[in-house]
Amino acid sequence: ASGRQWSQMSDAPQDRIASVDLQTNRPHSARVYDYIMGGKDNFAPDRETAAKVLADWPGLRTSMLANRACMHRMARHLTGLGVRQFVDIGTGIPSSPNLHQVVQETAPDARVVYVDNDLIVLLHARALLTGTPEGRIAYIQADMRTPEALLGDATLHEVIDFSQPVALTLIAMLQFVEDAQGVVESLLEPLAPGSHLAITIPTGELAPESERLAREYTERGIPMYLRGRAEVERLFSGLELLDPGIVPMPRWHPAPGEQPLPDTATNMYAAVGRKP
Ligand code: SAH
Repeated sequence: ASGRQWSQMSDAPQDRIASVDLQTNRPHSARVYDYIMGGKDNFAPDRETAAKVLADWPGLRTSMLANRACMHRMARHLTGLGVRQFVDIGTGIPSSPNLHQVVQETAPDARVVYVDNDLIVLLHARALLTGTPEGRIAYIQADMRTPEALLGDATLHEVIDFSQPVALTLIAMLQFVEDAQGVVESLLEPLAPGSHLAITIPTGELAPESERLAREYTERGIPMYLRGRAEVERLFSGLELLDPGIVPMPRWHPAPGEQPLPDTATNMYAAVGRKP
């Protein structure tokens, strides 16, 4: 099975982009995030932006780590509910463990499609294609702002069976999309009953530094949109919110015995909903 998977990937997109322009002369969200998380896939303008936002909010790294931890808990929870197909949009530069590693730990047959629109993520996609032989992993380069094109991707349809439930995970990425409501609705539309939407989403209502952070990103050419609770609720219209509803990220099913961080320590809400 892994042979097939590999040959399927051997004309993988990253082999066809020998001469892409990564625009390393300006900051990019995935690389700024990578730098703050301690990664090495970043360039001077990314590090400058990161240094500036960290000076304004030294707790940002804690918030980002809490985001990864929340993603892991959501992935485990959804796997526990029996979900076996995941579409993760806004994957980011690989950071171990990635979603498929968490999911395949308990469900080796799970299928995961990663999606990002950034070429630097594409260049690292191979690090994501390390799944179990029983499961399937694929990476596609697509933009969430054109959901029809994303949903029409041939690899997506080869790996994901749309007659079966899918978990759509949008983790720390909706802040980069202006019409979050429209794209979420379009992406949920073709999913089977029993599918889930899992998000973490920046807001100005928790960490007091959040508005300033969004301004810094926006001024540096990475527009960032914060959402209030009411807007987050609207994203889940027509879905059944799972317990505990829309909560500050550390309060979304903290690990047993874990004391969640205070609400002001992160800038994101977390929520999971089920399509009836
Ligand atoms: N989900 C990961 C990474 C978050 S960083 C995590 O939580 O750790 C946000 C990611 O979203 C970046 O990799 C960025 O390239 C991607 N992204 C931003 N806008 C996007 C869009 N319109 N379509 C697809 N991906 C996008």
